[in-house]
Amino acid sequence: MRPRSLTRSNSLRWTAAGSLGLIAATLLTTATIRPLTADDRETAATSDTAADQSSAEKSTADSDAAVPETAEGAKTVDSAESEQAVRYGRYNSLNQFESWVLLNKGTQPAGPGGYTHTKKEGTYICRRCNAKLYNSDDKFESHCGWPSFDDEIEGAVVRQRDADGVRIEILCKNCGGHLGHVFLGEQLTDKNTRHCVNSVSMKLIPKGKKIPPKIKPAALRGKEK
Ligand SMILES: [Zn+2]
Repeated sequence: MRPRSLTRSNSLRWTAAGSLGLIAATLLTTATIRPLTADDRETAATSDTAADQSSAEKSTADSDAAVPETAEGAKTVDSAESEQAVRYGRYNSLNQFESWVLLNKGTQPAGPGGYTHTKKEGTYICRRCNAKLYNSDDKFESHCGWPSFDDEIEGAVVRQRDADGVRIEILCKNCGGHLGHVFLGEQLTDKNTRHCVNSVSMKLIPKGKKIPPKIKPAALRGKEK
């Protein structure tokens, strides 16, 4: 876990609110980690544009942060990170609850279980197809009750408007499994993005352990580049 701007942001707010006294500062801090409000959903609702902007900002941020030397060097790093062996066949079998979340877009109850507070280093892969989804470095404590990441592994996650017409649903790009939702503009981290992911949609492969191959449907064998 890298240090988060949440802490820095809170510190700034604490300082700013110092003259208002402890109660005001507490309220302000609470506001920072409050549950989503109608305004947040409003933000999400306008996120076709917001997502595009965020994506543009993201590429800028990526090229600033991840390219200490040359663009070419960074390319090598990116492709190495996204590399994963592939096998064709049936997806992993899912139990009833996993199926409800991943295939029927269910939502796991919020709480401290699963990976919500996990700080172990490693790679989070899709429970259904093993595709790499998130790095533990991008996980942060959002206090929302679900595992939260402010970035995904490049190209691993698809965003689409949720059936509720308001939120942005996130899905595994490889198998289409439901992961959760992404929220923008909450100012929780520098990337200003929170992937709110169901623990049951993922599996953590601890750092140093072999990541299983990504599974693709047998029907695609020989039909992809
Ligand atoms: Zn998947």
